[in-house]
Amino acid sequence: MAKLTFIGLGNMGSGMCANLCKAGMDVTAYDLSPAAVNQAVAAGAKPAASAEAAAAGAAMVITMLPAGSHVLDVYFDTGRVAQAAAPGALLIDCSTIAVEDARQAHIKALDAGLTLIDAPVSGGVAAAEAGTLTFMVGGEAADFARAQPVLSAMGKNLFHAGGAGNGQAAKIANNMLLGVSMIATCEAFNLAEKLGLDAQTFFDISSKASGQCWSMTTYCPAPGPVPTAPSNRDYQPGFSVAMMLKDLKLAMGAAAGAQADTDFGKAAEAAYQALADDGHGARDFSVPMLKLKGEL
Ligand code: NAD
Repeated sequence: MAKLTFIGLGNMGSGMCANLCKAGMDVTAYDLSPAAVNQAVAAGAKPAASAEAAAAGAAMVITMLPAGSHVLDVYFDTGRVAQAAAPGALLIDCSTIAVEDARQAHIKALDAGLTLIDAPVSGGVAAAEAGTLTFMVGGEAADFARAQPVLSAMGKNLFHAGGAGNGQAAKIANNMLLGVSMIATCEAFNLAEKLGLDAQTFFDISSKASGQCWSMTTYCPAPGPVPTAPSNRDYQPGFSVAMMLKDLKLAMGAAAGAQADTDFGKAAEAAYQALADDGHGARDFSVPMLKLKGEL
């Protein structure tokens, strides 16, 4: 069986790695944290003492790391993964990183005789554990096809978004829309309440009218109408303010480079930055609701 390597066994990576093991794949795992490696071993992976050792002779390497600097370092610099992997290996980076970093990683992989796809995910920790992530993939169609058995073991929706970096582009454009729509949803519920509608009444109307959106119907920031939403558990994440802010910063950086106007994206970034600066980075990204109500 072809050897797979998984590097980055944090909140997301641990569940993703466990699902590859569950699917019967031959996985060698590495993380800077020995405790995370032990957890992967308990799920069926083989341990490694370094990224380079984990990748030795691997046909595919999957990474789930915090940011672009970690990804470039692990594959092409101190991590030496590109040198260690088998000739022609496929590198699958599932981290959320800057479009430019992803495009640089594609070029460096080709220079090393390997190929790379950027395959960021949507879905969060629960979907990582359940194997129901959505993958948005940038890279060659043949590499997307080659990755499908591995991605299918970790997710249920796989999209080929186009060439190098397009997976990251899809991810940050989507999350910019999500950040803006969440704040707009909070403002709408707050306005409705101040004008005399309770949250359930406004939800019943707007969720069947033209204001309907995911931030309302799946993740309602006002407590009550959607029982599974973080608003019903004191805005514990879910998806944190800090993670939304990270994605908005990536989106704003990419927008500046592409000369795309994103005035509402910038406003959302400023709102989430203010929440993070006030110490609310670990709360769910629907928490602007509390701020509008003067309860934060
Ligand atoms: P995390 O901080 O929990 O995990 C990152 C892991 O990478 C840690 O275990 C850390 O020890 C490890 N690591 C860092 N540098 C390393 C190195 N040089 N070598 C080996 N291991 C190293 O982060 P996470 O929440 O799992 O997120 C990972 C990525 O997924 C991020 O890019 C994030 O933006 C993205 N993402 C997260 C979510 C979410 O809900 N948490 C959702 C979608 C996408």
